[in-house]
Amino acid sequence: MITNVRSPRSAPARQTSLREHNLALVLGELADRGPASRARLAATTGLTKATVSRLVETLTEAGLVTELGRVSEPARGDRRHAGAPVGRPGVAVGLSPEGPLGVGIEINVDYLAGCAVDLTGTVRHRELVVEDQRGSDLAAVLDRTAGVLGRVLDRAAADGRAVAGVCVAVPGLVEAPAGREPLLRLAPNLAWRDVPVLDELRRRLRSGAAGKGADFGRLRMTMDNEANLAALGELWGGGHTVDGVPPRSFVHVSGEIGVGAGIVLDGRLFRGRRGFSGEIGHLPVRHDGPRCACGANGCLERLAGQEAILRGAGLALEPSTAIGSPAGSVAELVARAEAGDPRALAAIDGAATALGTGIASLVNLLDLDTVILGGLYAALAPWLREPVRTEIDRRVLSSRWAAVRLLVGGLAGEAAMRGAATSVVRRVITDPAAWLAAGG
Ligand SMILES: [Zn+2]
Repeated sequence: MITNVRSPRSAPARQTSLREHNLALVLGELADRGPASRARLAATTGLTKATVSRLVETLTEAGLVTELGRVSEPARGDRRHAGAPVGRPGVAVGLSPEGPLGVGIEINVDYLAGCAVDLTGTVRHRELVVEDQRGSDLAAVLDRTAGVLGRVLDRAAADGRAVAGVCVAVPGLVEAPAGREPLLRLAPNLAWRDVPVLDELRRRLRSGAAGKGADFGRLRMTMDNEANLAALGELWGGGHTVDGVPPRSFVHVSGEIGVGAGIVLDGRLFRGRRGFSGEIGHLPVRHDGPRCACGANGCLERLAGQEAILRGAGLALEPSTAIGSPAGSVAELVARAEAGDPRALAAIDGAATALGTGIASLVNLLDLDTVILGGLYAALAPWLREPVRTEIDRRVLSSRWAAVRLLVGGLAGEAAMRGAATSVVRRVITDPAAWLAAGG
């Protein structure tokens, strides 16, 4: 769904779409490089100053761009703004924090969360319901999820803000055929199969149970796997830099209760043919390893998943997330590791070796130079990092002359929800003409 939105910035410009193309070009510059004067926008986009001024006026009237006051241009030699004029202060324009909001909803195993972000990716509203959904009735979970969504929409409406859409993150396989509504095929930890989550939520919202202030007729809703959205969250809001610029190609490996990965190639999510990519949890790591719920043996999830780490550490705790259960299994594992508990450290080390083996396979296959550890693995990074690195260095053919960078996720457990919400506003940024045409 998300990567099927083709950026007008990368499409050939037909005469009729020239204005649309240039609107996206200017807005994309402001999103990727931050506020800039019209003169600098002209220099970095190659458009004339007069054209930039007209485009900025259109974007300002649509509420997507705002004037931010005078700023000094960056010094000569700033690689991000090469070619820009220097030395003259100008009136900077930037993405408007008062523009449309994107709403992200996350259905997780032990919590439901929602947020609204503005065009700059800043969170404006948050909702959280902590409740273990395992063994819960499907209809009851969907009722609660619609409640979370409705409250976020109500708060946006109370602030007089337009909502550009909703994206729902789910802990399972999402089939997303082009042009058709995505379907949740399987959520193993919730025991859900073939659930049309978006239809179910829409039905509940229309029934008036929640979100009375929203215009559901116009509300575009999408859904994706949580690991995919977490990777996008880290791409857009993780605050990572490699050699001074945000990494554009990486794999984000998130262990929460299951193990999943999101693969970002050249700034775009790699979803695979049907949307099922990133199932790193089922990479075979040890052919004679323990049997996995998928039917195979020795899958990464069985060796590096939270359940395996807890068992190895001798902790009889139910796996939980740090958000759903702040004093639960993750906190206990971290506390034991900090205290130097040998069983906990050995369990984390064993998981890290398996994790590094799985990651090395991905890196060898896709030639990635950056790996981001998220979720549980971010919490355990002080102990996981070195053994994961050792395994990557040992197994990645190119690592002798091109080291793989190992980063820790910046958004912790919020990555999927933030990625979901930000994917909505990114769609406005990559295609502002569509937002304008819809009466933005
Ligand atoms: Zn498996």
